[in-house]
Amino acid sequence: MRIYIKGNQDERFHRPLRLISNLFFEETELLFEEDEADLTASFVIEDRGPSVLISGIAEAGSRTYTASHEKDLTAFSIEKERFKQIKNTLARVYLMLLQEHTGIIQQWGILTGMRPVKLLHKMLQDGMTKEAAHHKLREEYLITEQKIQLMQSIVDRQLKVIPDLYDLGREISIYIGIPFCPTKCAYCTFPAFAMNGKQGRVDSFLGGLHYEMEEIGKYLKESGIKITTVYYGGGTPTSISAEEMDMLYERMMEVFPDVKNIREVTVEAGRPDTITPEKLDVLKKYSIDRISINPQSYTQETLKAIGRHHTVEETIEKFHLARKHGMNNINMDLIIGLPNEGVEEMAHSLAETEKLMPESLTVHTLSFKRASEMTQNKKRYKVASREETSDMMGLAVDWTAINGYEPYYLYRQKNILGNLENVGYALEGQDSLYNIMIMEEQQTILGLGCGAASKFRDPETGKISHFNNPKDPKSYNDGYKHYTEEKIRIMNELFGVKEDV
Ligand code: SF4
Repeated sequence: MRIYIKGNQDERFHRPLRLISNLFFEETELLFEEDEADLTASFVIEDRGPSVLISGIAEAGSRTYTASHEKDLTAFSIEKERFKQIKNTLARVYLMLLQEHTGIIQQWGILTGMRPVKLLHKMLQDGMTKEAAHHKLREEYLITEQKIQLMQSIVDRQLKVIPDLYDLGREISIYIGIPFCPTKCAYCTFPAFAMNGKQGRVDSFLGGLHYEMEEIGKYLKESGIKITTVYYGGGTPTSISAEEMDMLYERMMEVFPDVKNIREVTVEAGRPDTITPEKLDVLKKYSIDRISINPQSYTQETLKAIGRHHTVEETIEKFHLARKHGMNNINMDLIIGLPNEGVEEMAHSLAETEKLMPESLTVHTLSFKRASEMTQNKKRYKVASREETSDMMGLAVDWTAINGYEPYYLYRQKNILGNLENVGYALEGQDSLYNIMIMEEQQTILGLGCGAASKFRDPETGKISHFNNPKDPKSYNDGYKHYTEEKIRIMNELFGVKEDV
């Protein structure tokens, strides 16, 4: 799709226009110089001081569409904020034009960010009433009523399971990245290295990780900073041996502060082919009972097509094994829109899920991330249309409601099929607290290990900054001391050191 944006030379508008275009068309080329195009859009921006009026016209062949919107700017005295409102207004007018042209209603309106629920939390934290917040989401962002209700139900649910959510800024959560997997899946962009018997590399990595845990644990103890949740992800944290897991958790128990009051420890056991009775016993030994076992799909051909070298039966068998070994909070992930899957396969996956009834179910919609094998060879994989993806999502929404699951976190990604979302559902009281913490950005998340991203949140201002550990084990092994020191330095700046602890 080639779109000519006529007469708009201000480069600051290019990005929002591009983001809105991408919501509607798979491959869009925005042209700012006159050239042959499928659609031409032009805008008149009238800055009237206390308000801005933007009018737009789109022409495609013999069809012409018009849209306009006036935004009151009196509440925005800071130039940066004021300009943001003008950009949003332009995005809104452009969205209206494209909605009319394509007949597609964007459920999320002009929102292209990853965390819509955080936006609603912020409005409520700033003192807005629910009604005023909903009005703003509806009128300014053009979000549909259905999505606003979804956002509100998630906010309510999160505040029910974490009543002190807005007061946890002086605690932190910890993410521990184990970058190994038995093989690499086709859609994967995580730091995941096929192990292939390279034990030396695993040993050195674990040495670095133990060091990071010890140093960070010492710092947290000295500074009186509590840990809210811990999450082991990767890769697949259960790729390492039972003995290695045992040593790792033993070290965590020794070096992290006030371990018995950590609200939740989760270990992703994503790939069923890594789960053994010995490893489950190790998890149980340390009272780690929240794990994730990820079928992704219950159709065998799909698993083969995406490079997951395990069978559907193995997933089911490992689920029962985990139950037998005392795992009483199991999450499962499904992905909508995997190659060659449609409504029928989704219905099958949900019917199989019903036989297991995991405590939580995360329903992802496939996103084409630039680096994955699947995106680079997009033509080789046949994926569902926008309509069918939406029908599959509808099935998941209905199935979860009927079976007693409620949505408790949500996020969106770029290039996600059908511009949909990923939603975590949980049975009563089984929500993953870590998922809420990472999504709503109410506290610092320290990332330890390979590919672990730290997200620092200033406890006073709420400002977010990032710091990443390296993604490959070699660079990590060479530099883990430096990365540990850096994190402690940043923590010190943000939290200071309390003398009386
Ligand atoms: S199991 Fe997960 S982390 Fe490992 S390769 Fe597959 S998608 Fe990536």
